[in-house]
This record gives sequence, structure tokens and C-alpha cells, in this order.
Amino acid sequence: MLSQLALSIKESPTLKLNETAALLRDKGEPVIHLGGGEPKSRAPIDAIIGCASLLNTGEVRYTPADGIPALKKAVIRYTEEHYDRSVLPENVIVSSGAKQSIMVALHAILDPHDEVIFPAPYWVSYPEMVRLAGGVPVVVTAGDGSFQPTFDEIAAAVGSSTKAIILNSPNNPSGVVYTDDFVRQVVEFCEKRGIWLLMDDTYNRLVYDGRSPTNCYAFTPEDVERSKVVVINCVSKMYAMTGFRIGWAVGNRDLVKAMSNIQSQQTSGPAAPSQWAAIGALNGVQHSVSALRATLENNRNVLVARLRAIPGVKVTAPGGTFYTFPDFSAYEKKSHVLAAMLLDKVRVVTVPGKEFGMEGHLRISFCGTLKEITEGVQRIQWALDPNAPNELFLGGRRLLRDGL
Ligand code: GLU
Repeated sequence: MLSQLALSIKESPTLKLNETAALLRDKGEPVIHLGGGEPKSRAPIDAIIGCASLLNTGEVRYTPADGIPALKKAVIRYTEEHYDRSVLPENVIVSSGAKQSIMVALHAILDPHDEVIFPAPYWVSYPEMVRLAGGVPVVVTAGDGSFQPTFDEIAAAVGSSTKAIILNSPNNPSGVVYTDDFVRQVVEFCEKRGIWLLMDDTYNRLVYDGRSPTNCYAFTPEDVERSKVVVINCVSKMYAMTGFRIGWAVGNRDLVKAMSNIQSQQTSGPAAPSQWAAIGALNGVQHSVSALRATLENNRNVLVARLRAIPGVKVTAPGGTFYTFPDFSAYEKKSHVLAAMLLDKVRVVTVPGKEFGMEGHLRISFCGTLKEITEGVQRIQWALDPNAPNELFLGGRRLLRDGL
């Protein structure tokens, strides 16, 4: 018999859908994966050189559980450059992806039944991660139906069991960048009340329309040791290095030490070649990030325009990330039913909004090619809109909506 915990935890739907798409492709199905969460560009050459240099030595050994000193140094520089905050190596832990940093932070923070608040829509893994760490997820949904609750709505959810709040801005799946004022209010509230605040800044540098990323440190005490804010980042999205699995957290030294102890028992340090790749990416030429940002911004513009051309579909233009979260409830309120229908009928993979805590929506990514985006939306429109052209070509097969 498996544990109650194991039985209560479900598989990551985003990762599952990646597998589904890959399996269908292997079978020769004309799948378009608009559910994905990774850029298609190559990893920066400096990352590859960093990784290859280590591999060439043939000496690939354990690293310190909390990361190679050279990578911590690169993270410290990154924190200075992008957050204007000086931190020490004791304030940094490198993990196997941002996911592990969040997980070990929750393990370090939570006692059984402690509550963790986060706004909806939320990244699919937060509820399960909180449960894995013995905590209770508390979801706050904006009363006005938008993708950003007010500070008052967040504060109203805080009770005697609240141990932490998680903010993810730019937000996966909505692409919404929370306002500076909202972030400031939450940061100041957490500092005052002694509540941990996990800032998941995975998409922090992927913001559009000329805006600057929000810097939560602008609202925290200068001395990181007096702060409850933990900033989480990774190389996965901004450098297109998802498979390397390198993320990190910056926080006060007591917390980082506890996280490091847990990580040392759990997985030891992250894979050494991946850490050297991350050193290469962080210390190397940075133009790949701006190139990626420009490509994604163009993709976003095309995707939003195409989606808005489908009658009844409501789209909030994302200010960051590479996701849109349109409301399809005019066609189908149950997002699982809609996503299954689109996969079955027109071989387009999307992620059901229910997984992100919001029914009626689908997450549609714009990290693929423009061709995938335009063809994918064309297929969706064909499947839903009775006034769309009757004919659709699907991998060489001619389909007619009226079936004639
Ligand atoms: N974060 C990405 C996503 O939301 C990658 C998959 C995952 O770890 O959830 O699709």
C-alpha cells in the first residue's frame, strides 16, 4: 500500500502534456504543442562551452550541496545587476531547477498544517508542492474576475496558520505582471508580519512593451538577514536551458542553511555539468536574452491578435512570460473537456485552465514557432467557430467541418 501522501499527489499536468505531445508526434500525428513551457531557441554558446569544458576533463564529481562557489558568485553578480542588492554566498542556494528551490524552501519553512497563500491563476505545481511539504494551500481568486487579486483580498486570507505567500510575476499561466504597488504592499505586509514571501521570478526578465521587471528588493530592508523575502530564479526560461535543471534561491542565511541541509540529504548538489553551463550562461554574453525577448514579444502580438479574431474568446494581453490564458467559456466551461476535444479533433495541445485554478480558460503558449502559433490557432478556430472556413488541412488530410 502506498502512503497517503503519495496517493494524494497528482502528476504534473504540464510535464504530462509534454509527454503526450511527444508520443503523438512519434506516432506521426500532426500535433501542434501550444501547451509547452519552454523556449525553442538553443542554449547560449557560453553555456555549452562551460558545460563541455568540464566534461572534457572527464572529472565530473560531487559539488557542494548548495552549489559550486563560482556559480554562487555568478548569482551574486546577477542579484546585484538585476535587483541592486548585495548578498553573500551564505544567502544563495543553487538547486536542480527553480522547482527544487521552491520545494526545499517549503520544506524548510512549513510545519504540518501551516498555510501557504497564492493567487489564482497559479502555476500547476504550487498546491502539490505545498501538500508535499505538509502544508495547506490557500488560493486567493480576484473577486473582479481578473488575474490579479487586490492586496486586501490577499490580506483577508491571512490567518494564524499562514506561514508563507507565493507570488509569481510575470505570472504563469496568465502572463500578467503584477503591479509594483501590489508587490510593494505584499512585501511590506510580509516583512511586518513575519510571513515568508517566496517570489517566483522565473519569468522576471521576459517582460514586454519596454517595461522593466519588478524588483521586490526595492521594498525590503537593505539587510537581507532581516528579510523574509526569498527570491527564486532559474536559467531555464530566460536562457532556454530547461533541460539543464538549474535554479537558485536568495534569502536570509538561516533559511538558506536549512534549505541546504535538506537538499544535501535529498539530492546532493545539482549536476555539475549543468552548474558549469549555468556559470557560462550567467557570466557570458547576454544578447540571447534580449533576442529571445524580442522573438517572444512578436509571437505574443501575433497570438493575441489571432485569438481575438475568434468570436467570444476573451484575451488579456500578457505583459510577460510566454503564456496567454484566454477565456473560452463562451464555447465550453469545462476546460478539460475543451482541451481534450482540441487534442482529439485538431491535434492541438493546450493546458486546461482548471489545472491553474481557473475554469473556462486554456493556457496557450507562444514559445513555439510563428508557424505553430498561427496554424494552431487556425485549427482551434476551425474546431470552435461555426463561421470559420469550412476546410482544414491536418497533416495532409482534408477535413470539412460540416462533414460533407
Ligand atoms: N514551468 C513550465 C510550465 O509551466 C514547465 C513544466 C513544469 O515544470 O511545470 O509548463
